[in-house]
Amino acid sequence: MKRIGILGGMSWESSVEYERLINIGIRNRIGGASSGDLIVRSYDFSRIEALQDAGEWDVLAELLAADALCLERNGAELLVIATNTMHVVAPQIEAKIGIPLIHIGDVAAAAVRDAGVTKVALLGTRHTMEMDFYRSRLADAGIDTLIPREPDRTEIHRIIYDELVRGIIDDGSRADVLAIIQRMLGDGAQGVIAGCTEIELLVTSDDVDVPYFPTTSLHAEAAVEAALR
Ligand code: GLU
Repeated sequence: MKRIGILGGMSWESSVEYERLINIGIRNRIGGASSGDLIVRSYDFSRIEALQDAGEWDVLAELLAADALCLERNGAELLVIATNTMHVVAPQIEAKIGIPLIHIGDVAAAAVRDAGVTKVALLGTRHTMEMDFYRSRLADAGIDTLIPREPDRTEIHRIIYDELVRGIIDDGSRADVLAIIQRMLGDGAQGVIAGCTEIELLVTSDDVDVPYFPTTSLHAEAAVEAALR
């Protein structure tokens, strides 16, 4: 079994889910007392958020790439960045390391394609929804992406940063996200990517009638698969 390096804490509310799901996945596959062989770098998220707000993507790239290299030097054999948003600097990280990165956008794209969905709603931070790094990955897989209109984008971004990364799970916000999803289905989406690792803490596939792609669960599953390959 390969050792998995995790860049986490973005936020820890979802990276503890990664750890839990990877450990359960390994136990289910191998049995007994087995669990994942993990090495985790968990950031103080307030620092990451401040750099995002300031548009300091180069600083973030350097920080994450240096720590990814550190994980590799400490025996990680594959790397997981436990957030959709910070895949914006995935190319800079990949340039620095020799181990494979399991890209969350590719994992999401494969799940969407396997479900036969060609037009998908993407929910995530403003960065993930509006910048090109994520949607282009889906486009490369032949998938058409819809993002919410305003003011829905602002509301989803607010729910992520003001509530979910702080451990606040609010029924009203769940209803808001479900209403946004309904509007996007009205616009032609056939499925929904929970393209922020905290969204599935609020909305699960049980809440949604169409194919739902929760990126934390899918990414953790892909990590297990890669670790055991
Ligand atoms: N975890 C989130 C994501 O998947 C948002 C927090 C962050 O900006 O990293 O995009």
